[in-house]
Amino acid sequence: MSPHQEQAQAEHRTSTVEQGPFCSARCSCGWRGPARRARSKARSDAAEHIASGEQDHAARA
Ligand SMILES: [Zn+2]
Repeated sequence: MSPHQEQAQAEHRTSTVEQGPFCSARCSCGWRGPARRARSKARSDAAEHIASGEQDHAARA
């Protein structure tokens, strides 16, 4: 249905990007997390993103 699923196989490589006083998570798939004041929060956003992506995979299987 969604053309987005075509890229489901893309590797999710997350990193954190500092934006002034904030830090946000970013993924190689193009996903971007919300700005956080704590890098640990941004990293947990990234972890959630990857986890939800895996759930998506499982749901399709
Ligand atoms: Zn991703």
